[in-house]
Amino acid sequence: MTINIPRDVRDILAKLELYGHEAYVVGGCVRDALQGKQPKDWDITSSAMPKEVKRYFARTFDTGIKHGTVTVVLDHANYEVTTYRTDGVYSDMRHPDTVTFTRKLEDDLARRDFTINAMAYNPARGIVDPFGGQKDLAARLVSCVGNPRERFNEDALRMMRAARFAGQLNALIEKKTYDAIVSTAPNLCHISVERIRDEFVKIMMNSPYCLNILIDTGLINHFPMPAPLEDEARRFAREMNLSALSFDGNKLPYNLAVALAVLLRGRDRENAAWFLRKWRFDNNTVRKVSALIHWSKQGMEGGPANFRRFVAGCGKCLFKEVIAVKLLTRVVGEDKTERALREFELIIDHGDCLSIKDLKIDGHVLMSMGYVGREIGGALSKLLDAVLDDPSLNDRDKLAQILQS
Ligand code: ATP
Ligand code: MG
Repeated sequence: MTINIPRDVRDILAKLELYGHEAYVVGGCVRDALQGKQPKDWDITSSAMPKEVKRYFARTFDTGIKHGTVTVVLDHANYEVTTYRTDGVYSDMRHPDTVTFTRKLEDDLARRDFTINAMAYNPARGIVDPFGGQKDLAARLVSCVGNPRERFNEDALRMMRAARFAGQLNALIEKKTYDAIVSTAPNLCHISVERIRDEFVKIMMNSPYCLNILIDTGLINHFPMPAPLEDEARRFAREMNLSALSFDGNKLPYNLAVALAVLLRGRDRENAAWFLRKWRFDNNTVRKVSALIHWSKQGMEGGPANFRRFVAGCGKCLFKEVIAVKLLTRVVGEDKTERALREFELIIDHGDCLSIKDLKIDGHVLMSMGYVGREIGGALSKLLDAVLDDPSLNDRDKLAQILQS
């Protein structure tokens, strides 16, 4: 079995070995490569100590030096080199209290979470797979390395990772591992909101049906956040149909904000925003999701003027995402969606005015006409209203006439 390793990574392995150490690519990249997928990044594990790694390469920086990780920079790409290590006791169910460097690769592989993630590869020596990762990968099974209960007691986030990998690999969770999740689920409350959120989002974005794993194992009831999410997650898992977004040459966007708006659609925008803040999402995401929830519930029927008002209201940048949410939540079907997209293209092609800043008259002109203070904003809103009804009115003279009438 050979794995095609990028040149830079091969060079790093070769250099470390030249200086008398062992070096392997390890973890996710081996798993992905064995499945014929292009790995996102190549992590390296080596018997070399961090200070040795730093000595051999011209450009490095300390990433997690306490945990033995040094980043090597080659041709503007970064590669993490981590010294073989074993983890000490996990008294907080999150992080090892201590890490100890070791000279044995097998010890390093034994600290990793799942058998499919506990394989290493070196071009000269091939795959090192002491826990049966290849077998589990072929059988599509997520199984812990070692005793699942102990492993989840060390780090409760691994339970969320198990669900995520099950989705990512289209795999099942091996029985003992699954049972251990069910009994250890309450430990999830020791993990930070952000880390749980990140795993939840990955599942939601890539394999919505795997939210069911979070529900069936009970994990979802032990998130360290106040709001119950079970019913929303269940509906999301049941109804989410990403292929609905591609039809007839159209492709509507699916992104984090769209997914969250679909998940939280049963709430009003204030409650959704409150929830997202509890989940420590950034302000941009909170604002966008709450706008999507609001606009996906507004009608766009009633003729061209109403439709323009709708597009102006949500903003043309957000329009396709709003339509995606409407379609995914079945507020509209394919027919209506297609019609709306066609009308939208027309508005864009015609360059119809959709906002005050697109008006052919601005505040300065109004001031020269004698408007002051708040009158200016009021006049601009009035003009926008008229132009949304009839786009041909967006002309300086016609707009001035409207104000004089
Ligand atoms: P992805 O494709 O999502 O990056 P990955 O397997 O590379 O998947 P990472 O979170 O990048 O996942 O971690 C890299 C490797 O580190 C994993 O393959 C696994 O061997 C190990 N690892 C990561 N997190 C844990 C954990 N919580 N417990 C034990 N081992 C872990
Ligand atoms: Mg990774």
